[in-house]
Amino acid sequence: MSDSSLRVVWVYPDLLSTYGDQGNVLVVERRAQQRGLAVQRMDVRSDQPIPTSGDIYLVGGGEDRPQRLAAERLRRDGGLSRAADNGAIILSVCAGYQILGHEFVNDLGQREEGLGLLDVTSVRGEGERCVGDVLADVDERLRLPQLTGFENHQGVTHLGPTARPFARVRLGRGNGTGDGTEGAWNDTVFGTYMHGPVLARNPQIADLLIKLALDVNALPPVDDRWYEALRRERIAAATGPA
Ligand code: GLN
Repeated sequence: MSDSSLRVVWVYPDLLSTYGDQGNVLVVERRAQQRGLAVQRMDVRSDQPIPTSGDIYLVGGGEDRPQRLAAERLRRDGGLSRAADNGAIILSVCAGYQILGHEFVNDLGQREEGLGLLDVTSVRGEGERCVGDVLADVDERLRLPQLTGFENHQGVTHLGPTARPFARVRLGRGNGTGDGTEGAWNDTVFGTYMHGPVLARNPQIADLLIKLALDVNALPPVDDRWYEALRRERIAAATGPA
């Protein structure tokens, strides 16, 4: 952080915010404030330039057409790529995750260039759409509890050699490749198919983003009772009797 407030950028709320992904911004903002951090939140619409000085960028999911528009504008703008070059922390969800890869298949059935911030490539799955609750074990290097989320995507995402799987599914499809992987990450950029919103169901991921942005190993504990109740409820719904 170059000044005293944590700058959180919500990328394209007008195009990329399905299934309550806006909640991710609220959770990061709230958990930072609970630690006494001042937060400068920037909601950047698709007709505005992406600031390059943010600390944390959040990119949500979207339907196929908004996804193409968002990719076009992000490529033309260049700000998110410059922010990534500056070491910004980025969390992307579903359509946002696909856009951060090398390429994806757009609503016209054409291969569309992504930003190449994650070493992944997405295609359109031939089989059934991946829809439903997901439980997954997160890469142990990240020391996070079990991942819970909701997925709804046709895209199938293949990881290249420099992307690590974010998690391995116990329930659900994740990247949809059949190899059990879900999402991808490198040191500063994260992608996941999880909605929920993912940070409301997994607040420790929000804390991870804040720790990476601040370059600290730990944050003071906060009251997690509400989050834990939500997690228990969703995990029970996913694993309980049909
Ligand atoms: N359009 C993309 C897909 O179906 C992403 C969908 C989403 O973000 N929910 O794969």
